[in-house]
Amino acid sequence: MKASKKCPHCGQWSAWTHNPSDRCDHCQGLLDPAAFERQQAQAERKEEEEKRFSVDLIQINPDDSALVKFFKSIGLGFQLAFVGIVSFILWLIALLAG
Ligand SMILES: [Zn+2]
Repeated sequence: MKASKKCPHCGQWSAWTHNPSDRCDHCQGLLDPAAFERQQAQAERKEEEEKRFSVDLIQINPDDSALVKFFKSIGLGFQLAFVGIVSFILWLIALLAG
């Protein structure tokens, strides 16, 4: 089934496949900018969620000064402790739920 949509930019009718990234045949403008923005926002949200669940551990570089290395190892210790506590809580929840 072929659909057409009136372009919001130039007012010409253009072929439309109900895809948010469909563009006007006449002016190359987005036929459904709102749907396109929704899709972009969705993709961004997904990316953010993935970032939140991946733990970035502090990297200690060999050329860091002794003081920087000292503070970084403290930070890394806290991070590892935090990851350990979270895994323990998740394990506890799984144990209690099972
Ligand atoms: Zn157009």
